[in-house]
Amino acid sequence: MDLQLNGKKVLITGGSKGIGKAIAKAFVSEGADVSIAARRMEALEKAKAELDGRVTIFQADLTSSVERENLIQSFIGQKGTIDVLINNAGGSNGSKAAATDMELFYQAMELNYFSAVHLSKLVVEHMKRERNGSIINITSVFGRESGGKVTYNNAKAALISFTKSLADEVISDGIRVNSIAPGSILHETGNWIKRIKEDPEGMKEFVKNEIPAGRFGTPEEIANVAAFLASNQASWIVGASINVDGGQSRMNF
Ligand code: NAD
Repeated sequence: MDLQLNGKKVLITGGSKGIGKAIAKAFVSEGADVSIAARRMEALEKAKAELDGRVTIFQADLTSSVERENLIQSFIGQKGTIDVLINNAGGSNGSKAAATDMELFYQAMELNYFSAVHLSKLVVEHMKRERNGSIINITSVFGRESGGKVTYNNAKAALISFTKSLADEVISDGIRVNSIAPGSILHETGNWIKRIKEDPEGMKEFVKNEIPAGRFGTPEEIANVAAFLASNQASWIVGASINVDGGQSRMNF
C-alpha cells in the first residue's frame, strides 16, 4: 500500500526515544520530512544520528506553554507548513489518588493533556489554510479503561475525549484527528524494561495474565499504525481511538 507520505511535513513530540523515535523512523522510511521535539539536546542529537541525520530537531519542554508556542513558530518558520502532528510526549507519575499531591495531577495534565490540546490548537490554524492535515494523539489503553496510575489514567482519558471533540470540529476543514491507545510497549528506555530488571518473574506473570498475545508490544507496532492513520488511506477514520495492544484491553468495544 502506497501511503503517499513522501515530503509530508511531520512533527513528533517526544520523538527522541521509545515510541516517538520509532514513529519518526517509520515516517522517514516513507520519505516524509520529519521533525522531532523533546527536552534534552543530547537525546535529540543521539536520535538524529540513529536516524542517519534525516530528521530536524527542536528542543522544547512541552509542559511550558511559551515553549509550545515557540516550537510551532520555529517549525512553521523552517518548514512553511505542517501536514502531520503526532502528540506523543507523555508520562506517568504519583501513586494512589489519596497519596498523590495535587501538584502531580497538574503536572500529568500539563504533559499528557494540555500540551496536546495547545499544540493541536496552534497547528489547526495552519492546517485549515491548506485544507489538509492529520493530528494523532498517543494515549493509552489506560485512558479507555481503568488501570495504570490515577493521574495518567485521568489525563489520557481527557485526551481521548478531546480527540473526538476536535475531530468532529475540524473534519469539514480537511483535518483528521485520531488517537492510538497502546498497550504495554517494551523498549530500551521505557518503564517496562526497568520493571523487568527489578522483577523478572513478576513481569512474566503480568504478561501471561494481562496480554493475550503473550508478549509486550514493540514501538514499531505503534509506529506502523501512526503512519497508516496519517495517510489518506485512512481518510474515513475520524475521531477514533484505536487500541494497539495484543488484546490487552478488556473492553468489548
Ligand atoms: P518515553 O518516556 O520513552 O519517551 C517519552 C518521550 O517524551 C521522550 O522523548 C521524552 O523526552 C519526551 N518528553 C517527556 N516529557 C517531556 C517534556 N516535558 N517536554 C518534551 N518532551 C518530553 O515514553 P514511551 O514509552 O515512548 O511513550 C510514548 C507515549 O506513549 C507516551 O505518551 C506514553 O504515555 C504512551 N504510552 C506508552 C506505553 C508504553 O508501554 N511504553 C503504553 C501506553 C502509552
